[in-house]
Amino acid sequence: MNDARNRTVRLARRPVGLPGRDTWAIADEPVPVPQEGEVLVEVKAISLDPAMRGWLDEGKSYIPPVGLGEVMRAAGAGVVLQSRDPRWKPGDTVMGGLGVQKLACVRGRDLEPIDIAIAPFERWLGVLGVPGMTAWFGLFEVGALKDGETVVVSAAAGAVGGLVVQLAKSRGCQVVGIAGGPDKCRLVVEQFGADACIDYKSQDVRAGVSAALPGGVDVYFDNVGGEILEAMLTLLRRRARVVICGAVSGYNDFANIRGPRNYLNLLIQRARMEGFVVFDYAARYPEARAEIARGLADGAIRALEDVRDGIDTFPDVLPLLYSGGNFGKLVLRP
Ligand code: NAP
Repeated sequence: MNDARNRTVRLARRPVGLPGRDTWAIADEPVPVPQEGEVLVEVKAISLDPAMRGWLDEGKSYIPPVGLGEVMRAAGAGVVLQSRDPRWKPGDTVMGGLGVQKLACVRGRDLEPIDIAIAPFERWLGVLGVPGMTAWFGLFEVGALKDGETVVVSAAAGAVGGLVVQLAKSRGCQVVGIAGGPDKCRLVVEQFGADACIDYKSQDVRAGVSAALPGGVDVYFDNVGGEILEAMLTLLRRRARVVICGAVSGYNDFANIRGPRNYLNLLIQRARMEGFVVFDYAARYPEARAEIARGLADGAIRALEDVRDGIDTFPDVLPLLYSGGNFGKLVLRP
């Protein structure tokens, strides 16, 4: 073990709006000692997710909020240091809910094995982890994508969106991304293979998508909600599917979410709009992971991670997800 002490990021107070430095308490702590059934893991990579903002608020959601004083919840990947669970031994590489800390003491049964010969730690939190599963099940199960359809995805340069673009292209679809800024749009077209990308910060999204897909949209994969969702509802084709994956544009200010006022377009187009939580598909992850791993191995799928260093930078790095400062999957190496 390189560290005689653990370093943790705990929730100090519930933020109003964007989390700030005073939201968190960062400290050195004694190394936790695993009890029967527990495992001590050295965390190598921490997943930063837009949903983290929602976990900071009191109230009902798809999982309980992080409690005041608790280590911030986060998915992570790392190496087993000590084990009191027969499933694991020192040196095993794993992922699971490790939290924002350097050393995590967790129940062995909550961990999954990862093979770092296939991909580095951070990729197991990206295309091979929850964002990858979200793209795959959102597009193919919730979106019921058929070969050759037209697809639009927002936050297209991000962890989920970047893979949605590539998976839809692999099914012969015409794909348009929506992203913030020319650099991201270039990435979405040149690296992920979209047919076009609309920069919502400088272009009219409705006009841009409509010019790229004059026949309309079969599947809109929504990561952002708000006004972009509203614009896309006007461009649906008959029997279109709108996949409600997330609504990051509103995560820091739910009270002032704008749109959609025009949801009756769903009626006019006999369309449907459906939300989902990826964890409901956990039993089927191996199916999705196998296709994505094959794509990585043969070069058909490109993975992009935006890796930042230092656990103490967590308060400054997390907000990048809400300002668009990340390119691809945002990961912190503690
Ligand atoms: P990400 O796309 O890598 O990062 C978030 C991106 O959102 C930013 O880079 C930014 O890109 C964009 N964004 C932020 N504020 C915005 C705004 N006001 N308007 C438009 N775009 C904005 O994050 P991710 O991990 O892949 O997550 C994408 C979505 O999937 C999120 O909504 C997340 O909550 C959701 N998700 C859902 C599930 C599920 O089970 N349903 C599971 C995982 C993730 P730009 O620079 O392009 O603005």
